Amino acid sequence: MTTGRWTDHDQEHYERPRRHTRPRTKERPTYDDAVDGTVVTVDRGRFTLVVGDVPVTAMKARPLGRKGVVVGDRVRVVGDTSGAEGSLARIVEVTERTTVLRRTADDDDPVERVIVANASQLVVVTALADPEPRTGLIDRALVAAYDAGMDPLLCLTKADLADPETLLSTYRSLGVPWVVTQRGSDLTGLRDRLRGRTSVLVGHSGVGKSTLVNALVPDADREIGHVNVVTGRGRHTSTSVFMLRLPGGDGWIVDTPGIRSFGLAHVEPGQLIGAFPDLDALTGECSRGCLHGSGEPECGLDAAVAAGGADPDRVESFRRLLAARSETAW
Ligand code: ZN
Repeated sequence: MTTGRWTDHDQEHYERPRRHTRPRTKERPTYDDAVDGTVVTVDRGRFTLVVGDVPVTAMKARPLGRKGVVVGDRVRVVGDTSGAEGSLARIVEVTERTTVLRRTADDDDPVERVIVANASQLVVVTALADPEPRTGLIDRALVAAYDAGMDPLLCLTKADLADPETLLSTYRSLGVPWVVTQRGSDLTGLRDRLRGRTSVLVGHSGVGKSTLVNALVPDADREIGHVNVVTGRGRHTSTSVFMLRLPGGDGWIVDTPGIRSFGLAHVEPGQLIGAFPDLDALTGECSRGCLHGSGEPECGLDAAVAAGGADPDRVESFRRLLAARSETAW
């Protein structure tokens, strides 16, 4: 699902006419020779793209102005796209994004940052023990996913240490799909869920996210190393967001090593229910401005639960997510 509300602020800025711009000539460049690329990592203003199978270093062309370019962006590039050492291509166009995963630096800081564009799934990696799962963190990641128009997936690790049932019972009524893994286990279930799409993996340190990434893309280190060689910028920083193609070319994963918090100040509380069409359909009689949280006077969700027309667990879970939006950041 995509709607106009995911408009990139940067893009708005870009489209605003500049004050001192010269009159446009008829010979605006059309970039007929541009080729398609995908941004896989960003490092200090330099972008690593893959063009076909080739890693290419690029910078933004001047006409893009202050428009943001992020991991996952599909772009058009001109110039030297050979990928040869020292070569530099120019990004001349960013294709309209299908989804935008955002975070606010923290809940008090309204500056929102786009983490990844065009991903369709958010994989919330959580250990079942060591460290103990914290539903508040999972809830906040789910809110970010729903706000971005992405499908959530719970990936529960260390199943050898604890039974997943307790945690799963909390999320069953929301209908969040899940996979369970443990060290050395077969990852077929997870691979099936990742196939043919772009998935962002988020999770706290110690939950086994890096182990999963290495298992899913055994050449990850080499690939990232290769990227380093191409950018000529020294070692890949461990905090950068980067995108890796799954073996066989059937889908992508995005690792987010530096993302330790999910500030949600950018999320409009009134919009969250849009991710739950069945509940949204029950709110037609709500007063204007009803956020459908617990304690709202005469919310249609309460009426539906009282009349047996809504699953009370599902309504309660939705309201827990709504409240998680304004809880302390991770
Ligand atoms: Zn309501």
